Amino acid sequence: MYQEKLAATITKRLERRNFDVIVCQNRQEAKQKALTLIPAEKTVAFGGSMTLVEMDLISALEERQQPVINREKAKDLTERHQLMKQSLLADYYLTSVNGISEEGMLVNIDNVGNRVAAMTYGPDKVFVFAGINKIYGDLETTLAIVRGKTAPQNSFRLNLQQTPCVKTGLCGDCLKEECICNIVSVMRRSALPKRITIFLILEELGI
Ligand code: SF4
Repeated sequence: MYQEKLAATITKRLERRNFDVIVCQNRQEAKQKALTLIPAEKTVAFGGSMTLVEMDLISALEERQQPVINREKAKDLTERHQLMKQSLLADYYLTSVNGISEEGMLVNIDNVGNRVAAMTYGPDKVFVFAGINKIYGDLETTLAIVRGKTAPQNSFRLNLQQTPCVKTGLCGDCLKEECICNIVSVMRRSALPKRITIFLILEELGI
């Protein structure tokens, strides 16, 4: 099967860069494995992610009384930012990724940078959930797709009003106040072996 072959190739390339990889057939398998791997008493935080929403993992953690830092429950913007800072000290951080290059590098675009910060430094353990559709090509291609397609789609999802992308559907490389593309990150290797586990899921997930 094409997806399994691709996953096997990318797994080797990710592992060479100190990323741990778990290949999962579908989102349910990824969810069950994550629930098994996260000890019940550990604190969990998470970044904004359509993949996580589609997996329904956060509510499963909350249902089993896991300590969860949930910024979506903040009463105002100040508390939301405090929770995002606290997330950097969580035991586990859950997120997705905007793109994985065929060389095995992780590509992300972030607004305030909390997600990228947590991935690169902070929580001792990071779980990254990625549908196989997030493998776009070499690094240059991946950056172009994440900037040119993923980011404009997120702008629509977040209901931006002023940016060129919501007027044309294309990235205008803007510097608007509303811009959500403030940090462009390439993680080419993990300094700490196996700190980051990538759940490579053999179905389409996220945008
Ligand atoms: S840089 Fe600006 S125009 Fe481009 S996708 Fe981001 S918000 Fe839209």
